Amino acid sequence: IASTMQTGELTIARLVEYSRRTFPETGVTTWTGSELRPISFPELGDRSAQLAHALAKLGINRGDRVATFMWNNNEHQIAYGAVPAMGAVLHTLNLRLSPEQAVFIINHADDQAIIVDASLAPMLAQYVKGTPGVRHIIVANGPASAFEAPEGITVHSFDELIADEPTTYEWPEISETDAAVMCYTSGTTGDPKGVVYSHRSIWLHSMQVCSSSGMGLGNTDSVLAIVPMFHVMSWGLPYAAMMAGLTLVMPDRFLQPEPLLAIMAAAKPTFAAAVPTIWQGVAAQLAATPQDISHLREVVVGGAAVPPSMIRQFDGFGAPITHAWGMTETSPLGTVSRPPFGVADDDAFAYRVTQGRFPASVEARLVADDGSILPWDGEAAGELQVRGPWITGAYYSPEGNVSNDDKFADGWLRTGDVATISPDGYMTIVDRTKDLIKTGGEWISSVELENTIMSNPAVTEAAVVAVPDDKWDERPFVLAVVADATDADPTKLRAHLGDLVPRWQLPERWAFVTEVPKTSVGKFDKKRIRAEYADGAYE
Ligand code: ADP
Repeated sequence: IASTMQTGELTIARLVEYSRRTFPETGVTTWTGSELRPISFPELGDRSAQLAHALAKLGINRGDRVATFMWNNNEHQIAYGAVPAMGAVLHTLNLRLSPEQAVFIINHADDQAIIVDASLAPMLAQYVKGTPGVRHIIVANGPASAFEAPEGITVHSFDELIADEPTTYEWPEISETDAAVMCYTSGTTGDPKGVVYSHRSIWLHSMQVCSSSGMGLGNTDSVLAIVPMFHVMSWGLPYAAMMAGLTLVMPDRFLQPEPLLAIMAAAKPTFAAAVPTIWQGVAAQLAATPQDISHLREVVVGGAAVPPSMIRQFDGFGAPITHAWGMTETSPLGTVSRPPFGVADDDAFAYRVTQGRFPASVEARLVADDGSILPWDGEAAGELQVRGPWITGAYYSPEGNVSNDDKFADGWLRTGDVATISPDGYMTIVDRTKDLIKTGGEWISSVELENTIMSNPAVTEAAVVAVPDDKWDERPFVLAVVADATDADPTKLRAHLGDLVPRWQLPERWAFVTEVPKTSVGKFDKKRIRAEYADGAYE
């Protein structure tokens, strides 16, 4: 028999209209450096319609790419609504790419218009000299004169461009499988790769973000979205906000620990999300200047492994961390670590340090080097492969998307992560394939070694990479940050490790810095560390 149910396309336009009709009391609020600048969902709906009209007048058609080069703020949220709702494709550009990568990505995506924050205009003005396809620059949060345009580009003021446009828009009927948003991986290996999310994948993912096995967000939450809107759509929070009617608190360009704590004092968010390095900075600031952050009922941390010591530290602040794993390719929610039903608090910790369980929509398997499928026994480690309705099946290419490269296997995405999965479904990342350290025929997990080193309160940051070794092939090298200079002593730090790791894992090579180099999304930049220290620069 046939189902009797209607279909109904799951589109971003529906989220824009739903939130504007349903939640007049909530919306987005952006930190100006001294106060919050709120905009309600109805107003966001108005502005999104106005921006869509303005873009249409500039000649933006269905499927055209409109990029953003912006911080997390109200105007960025307006673009998140307008661009996909009108049937165009929003391309969120990473602000911290090298100039070469930025030019490559703008050309590869064939962006026709770019919305830019005035504070970032000088940087973008350099890039667009090499991007002949860009025709319009729209400057938000400051004067259009902030952008010095090369020939062939028209510069507009965001506010003036939309001011006289109608506040409603006949959103086109589009298919839920159409392209909505695109995002490039941060290109830690080779050129960045483009992932194109559909309206449907974003909808389903947003439902998971709101659900209690995801981030469990509802209309009484106010969510400090520190993770940038260019880093996998701020982990889905802007669209989840439209669905749940929650308040999004946006830090704009104020991403240092001190202003982040000022934002928390002013907005008292119930929830926050960012990569571990941000929280490491916040924790250090809290140690210097205590502040109550227990208004945070939950802090979701992912993008890189969360050291167990950080989870304990934030428990101490009354702001419990929930560990999550994901990738640009997975929208990003892949796993979230919520302890099983009936487990006492003391035993829950062992679950909270894992990367967590997969939601119903994400299928996972572990594959050994010889291609065999490994059991979920908590022991066998293999490449994690995933598939599902918000997992990419290809990379974007102007000549036709590519699904036949080595990142895919029989319809599964190869994550490049080595993992174990317990019988009750908790996934633990052992390492990235390329970061494992091979020494004397045995493997060392750089992630595990880092976590153990950081369990020493003297150490604030520790990144471990492989360096070549004549005798053992590779040995671990530690690049560490210590709060007190007298602790910059390998003998002392090795003594702490003595009881915690096998002797053959004990690193003999150490260097101390004031900050570990980070990638464009704030992870330890192991490629750079390897390159800088491979030749024995630590000795
Ligand atoms: P890039 O690959 O360019 O760094 P992504 O943000 O897509 O950009 O990175 C995804 C990768 O980040 C994952 O494949 C994994 O290696 C790592 N990662 C994400 N979350 C976690 C986590 N909770 N624990 C360990 N590694 C993580």
